[in-house]
Amino acid sequence: MPVSKNKIKLPAMTPGTTRSIAWLRYGKAGARPKVYLQAAIHANELPGAMLLHHLMPLLGEADRAGRIRGEIIVVPTVNPIGQSQLVGNTHVGGTTCSAATTSTGTGWTFPVRSPNGSAPDWGGMRRPTSA
Ligand SMILES: [Zn+2]
Repeated sequence: MPVSKNKIKLPAMTPGTTRSIAWLRYGKAGARPKVYLQAAIHANELPGAMLLHHLMPLLGEADRAGRIRGEIIVVPTVNPIGQSQLVGNTHVGGTTCSAATTSTGTGWTFPVRSPNGSAPDWGGMRRPTSA
């Protein structure tokens, strides 16, 4: 059975925009055992998405050869809203922006670490001063 490609349309957050979650089904709908695989619920954590990217062609090949007895659902990236959360050019989809994660502890709400672990890049924004 060929892979079934599907989308779940999400409510628009801004008029005129759309978002959806893509999912794929391998095997036969309703067949058992059933396996559900998803990745990137914390949208900036992409190793699982990369794994599924490489797994999906293999699942398609197995499906075409009739080697999938049950049903396999794959959601390669499950959080399109988080994927759109950027500060400057830095993806912050899984970052908790709170005082506990800042260098100053003052409630400044941007990430402490740059992606390479060096001192924070404030992206041209003025660093907060003490009250
Ligand atoms: Zn996570």
